[in-house]
Amino acid sequence: PTPPAALLEVRGLRVVFDGFAAIDGLDFTVEEGELRFLIGPNGAGKTTLIDVVTGLTKPAAGSVRFGGRELVGRREHHIVRLGVGRTFQTATVFEELTVVENLDLADSFRLPLRSLLRRRRGVSDAVASALEAADLTALADKPAGVLSHGQRQWLEIGMLLVQRPKLLLLDEPVAGMSRSERERTGELLHRIASTHTVVVVEHDMEFLRRYARKVTVMHQGHVLREGSVAEVQEDPRVREVYLGR
Ligand code: ADP
Repeated sequence: PTPPAALLEVRGLRVVFDGFAAIDGLDFTVEEGELRFLIGPNGAGKTTLIDVVTGLTKPAAGSVRFGGRELVGRREHHIVRLGVGRTFQTATVFEELTVVENLDLADSFRLPLRSLLRRRRGVSDAVASALEAADLTALADKPAGVLSHGQRQWLEIGMLLVQRPKLLLLDEPVAGMSRSERERTGELLHRIASTHTVVVVEHDMEFLRRYARKVTVMHQGHVLREGSVAEVQEDPRVREVYLGR
């Protein structure tokens, strides 16, 4: 059998801020169709890694290949068009617009010419399927400004889905969520991962034990360990740096 194709391949990555190497010799591979969790103590370099993959930060060295294409040196909007979408720790939604209007807007940015046609036909297929996938159907006509913190995160994920990314990079989507919102998010992530490749930065061990299959532990800008939640939790090096025992 042929091994699964790597969708994202990061090799020898190095990112330097004012002489400090935030990422130092990082290798990281994500295969097509994976739901991968990225953990590690504060300052490990998780957000910086996402920033490099999405073109926000330039590395000092190394390569980031996505579907065989080099991403280093490409601009952010080009990387979005190649199929890489990300969320930020604070959701960016248009508060004065409804949920559906936010999704519509995300759709128009991607496909500006279709916006006229769509106005006459109602909601586009992409918006309809994002409403469902991100659990937003019941909220469709609510202004985004009245959504809870968790609902905003789902909306932001929905806005990404509308843009038809192949790879979604989600930065701490469950931070600050209520227990029931976390559960719905865990299910949502698995639903999305059945049709997309997803990388999620997450700290909450209880959440990981419940929803994560494969985990990558980062520490001081490189990968310390990869494996199942049970495997990484048993690793004494991980316990030392991440769990603090
Ligand atoms: P994590 O997401 O794992 O908490 P970050 O990627 O945010 O870690 O940060 C990694 C390291 O890089 C930290 O020491 C942080 O202070 C530093 N860093 C991140 N972004 C910048 C920046 N724009 N300028 C200077 N230092 C930065």
